[in-house]
Parts: sequence; C-alpha cells; structure tokens
Amino acid sequence: MIYSLREVSKSYPASGTVVNAVNGFTLDVQPGERIALLGPSGAGKTTLFRLLNATLRPTSGTLRFDGSDVGAMSGRELRSMRRRIGTVYQQFHLVPSLTALENTLCGRLGYWSLLHTIRSTVRPTKQEREQAMAALEVVGLADKYCARADELSGGQQQRLAIARVLMQDPEVILADEPFASLDPSLKESLASLLMVLVTNGKRTLVTTLHDVETALRFFPRIVALREGHVAFDTTPAEISRESLKALYDGDSESNGSAARDGVQWRDDKNEPRCAPTCAR
Ligand code: ADP
Repeated sequence: MIYSLREVSKSYPASGTVVNAVNGFTLDVQPGERIALLGPSGAGKTTLFRLLNATLRPTSGTLRFDGSDVGAMSGRELRSMRRRIGTVYQQFHLVPSLTALENTLCGRLGYWSLLHTIRSTVRPTKQEREQAMAALEVVGLADKYCARADELSGGQQQRLAIARVLMQDPEVILADEPFASLDPSLKESLASLLMVLVTNGKRTLVTTLHDVETALRFFPRIVALREGHVAFDTTPAEISRESLKALYDGDSESNGSAARDGVQWRDDKNEPRCAPTCAR
C-alpha cells in the first residue's frame, strides 16, 4: 500500500470557529493506481492533496506513506518521503528566467545539496544533462531546451512541468488540476501523455480534477469528495448521472455544470460513454 488513510481529518481555525476541510477520511491507494479526485468547490480536494504530499499534517487520524506514519515522521524522513513524490501544480511553478533544460534539472533539487544545486543548474554533469534532455524528449520539448520558460506557451509550460517531475523520477505523481486552462485538444494530448508516463514508469498518480469528462475518460478509479468525506469511490463505469448530480448539487463555482451537462451518457443506461478507455 503506498497510501493508507484512516479517519484522517484536517481542520483550520477560521474567525472564531473551526472549518473541517477533511473530515474522517479513509482511503487506501495501491502502487500503480491512477486516481482522480472529484468534488465541488470547498469539498476538501486541495487539503487532501496537501496532506498526501505532506505539506500539511492531519489534525487527527493516521496517514501512512508506504507503511510509515506521516504524522510521526522527523524532518529528515519527511524530506525523504517528498523525494518519492513528484507534484505537478496548476500554476506550473517553473522559474520563468531559467531555460527549459535548467527547469528540468530542478527536478533533482530534492536530491542535491545547495552547492551541488548551484553547480548542476549552471553546469550540469554530462549524465545530468542527458537525463534532462531525455525527459524533455519524452514530453516533446527537446528542441526548446534553450528557451526560457516564460517564452513557452501554456501547453509547453505544462509539459515542461511534467519533464521536471520525470527528472525527479518519483514513485508517486500528485497533480493538482494539471489540465486546467488548457484548450480541449491540448488537454487530451497531455492527459494521454501523462497516462503513458505513469503506466510505463509503474508510478502511482493522484490528480484533482474539476473536469469530470477527463476524469471519467482517463482514470480507472474516481474518488469523489463532498464536505470533506468520501462521497463515492468507484470506477467510471459504476458512476451514474444521478450520483454526479448529487455530488455537484448546489455548487455554482466549480464545473458542476459539466458534471450535469458535459458528460455524454449512453442512451439506454446511465453510464458515461467515455468510461471504457481507461481500463487498468
Ligand atoms: P477544494 O480544493 O475542494 O475547493 P479546499 O481543501 O480548498 O477545497 O477547502 C475545503 C474547506 O476548507 C473550504 O471550506 C475552505 O474554505 C476551507 N479552507 C481551506 N484552506 C483553508 C485555510 N488555510 N484556512 C481556513 N479555511 C480553509
């Protein structure tokens, strides 16, 4: 088991009261699984995401990573855990003034001392450079290795963020809305690319998504959150139009409308048409 969460809660103090963002959450994740986290705005997806990458600790309950209790980890153990987890953020978090190659090299930061970081970003060893070029090749950006990150398009920047994670070579990839703000064809090609990289590298992928159609199409397991709880945890084929409606009911901010209207349903059954493509 790569993740095991038992009755995990995370609360925040908020103007004299307490917000239970994640509330008694129980979940097991096996190595190699591909999971989409769905839910309306405020359901607790971001908080859960931050618990999984250990930038937040649970207020109560137990979160285990590869058998070890994250809440009891020392600073050194936490750093070692984070090296095994690659995070792809919606805002890419690239260094705009560095080249694509330099940004890719930054994927190894968790492994390097400060001195090594300065030396390797400016003057990488032959092996580091080859590794970074290979990662850029995989995401189709080898010809842009010299371009500054801020000279790249949105889709190229997202691919660069994925190359940086490949350079890190993590066992787990956590992606927070990785396809947001991309046009539909780019979303499609990046989602396909991410699936191939995760499957070939035998990595685990957990992604927050507001795009229900992409979730149902590409992910074999859907974990839906509502008010900090698991609303449902199932395969796309098992999800009905009604369960999605109930999940997003009353949500005006996230794409509840896509959940209600955007997904194509088979005429005879309440099954999403896109589900069969995401076989394990
Ligand atoms: P989602 O990502 O699904 O929109 P979040 O995890 O961001 O949900 O938020 C869940 C709940 O926790 C919301 O009610 C939100 O307002 C609250 N929340 C999130 N972060 C904080 C914080 N730092 N301080 C206080 N409340 C927060």
